[in-house]
Amino acid sequence: MTDTRIYLSPPDVTDVERKLLLNAFDSNWVAPVGPDLDAFEERVAELVGVRHAVALSSGTAALHLALIAAGVRRGDTVLVPSFTFAATANAVAYLGARPVFLDSTPHSWNVDPELVAGELRARAGRGQLPRAVIAVDMYGQCADYDPLLAACDRYGVPLIEDAAEALGATYRGRAAGSFGLAGVLSFNGNKIITTGGGGMLVTDDGSVAKQARHLATQAREPVPHYEHRSVGYNYRLSNLLAAVGRGQLQRLGQMIEARRRTFEHYRAALGDLPGIEFMPIAAYGVPNYWLTCLLVDAERFGAGRDRILDALAARDIEGRPAWKPMHLQPVFQDCVMRGGEVSASLFHRGVCLPSGSALTDRDRDRVVDAVRSVTCEQKG
Ligand SMILES: *Cc1c(COP(=O)(O)O)cnc(C)c1O
Repeated sequence: MTDTRIYLSPPDVTDVERKLLLNAFDSNWVAPVGPDLDAFEERVAELVGVRHAVALSSGTAALHLALIAAGVRRGDTVLVPSFTFAATANAVAYLGARPVFLDSTPHSWNVDPELVAGELRARAGRGQLPRAVIAVDMYGQCADYDPLLAACDRYGVPLIEDAAEALGATYRGRAAGSFGLAGVLSFNGNKIITTGGGGMLVTDDGSVAKQARHLATQAREPVPHYEHRSVGYNYRLSNLLAAVGRGQLQRLGQMIEARRRTFEHYRAALGDLPGIEFMPIAAYGVPNYWLTCLLVDAERFGAGRDRILDALAARDIEGRPAWKPMHLQPVFQDCVMRGGEVSASLFHRGVCLPSGSALTDRDRDRVVDAVRSVTCEQKG
């Protein structure tokens, strides 16, 4: 039997999701409204521990609406971690605002709270406070919210939590997505749960939820004719996709457990190699282990990141470099960056390993063998 390709983080769907999807189809709620959407929103709000959840077509849409809710307008500044996926910064650019990028801390790979506090202090002194701060929960591990929220509160700047990768993670017992003015979740095909594409804005603030719902439905006023007082968007999620999401939610605990086991497996099997280390898990929380990433010290390991990626590719295994920081992206090259060495080093040394929740023991072994083969080449 030949081995099949191992993907980085493929969808993990079963008969549970299939049945719910077909039920939704048969009910004829084939629209961006319906009972599955309502139930999906209710369940996510409950899970995150917030009052309101607004299902949307993507996590990026949720970021866009969260920034609007924070009052971000053309010409404003928004503090954004450099080490993230482009969607975080793109949403800022949609509004004609300027991201100011901040470096990560090596302790969690998330934005460094001291850089956030320092930047807010400096900007307050100049009378140039940013309109918002975005924190990202990288690879399923929460940012350090106590110091982040303390700094934001001191200057009255709203915080938005990009928890696109972190559903099910916790920070000091509180769920990812529940911090700040609004949280953002993604149900893209590669995330911890998927609807085949989708997202959600979660918040305790009733007016933020109401505004997001309004803007996501073309800003239609609640009157019989078509009346619009602001520019709206078509950002609602389909009821069909929400049905898939309901099924995925039922299995979230198992899926996190599977990803945690993968992390432990890779760490046990590769962590002893010289020059290899794994993403540090901060004591303040419990990640959802969305992706397992390792860092290679080329000198001590005897080969760099790309050699590992090549070895994976040669065995039909999908690995990826860690995110390329935003301050190194051509599209954002004119933006201000504070620090930068940590995130640049994570990019140059980081490899994301296959982490899907349907990964088998055999798959994990193939990945481990591929990484280990690089060290053997060195010795041989
Ligand atoms: C996936 C992701 C997004 C965007 O979510 P989509 O649903 O794909 O639009 C935003 N931020 C981060 C950190 C992500 O990983």
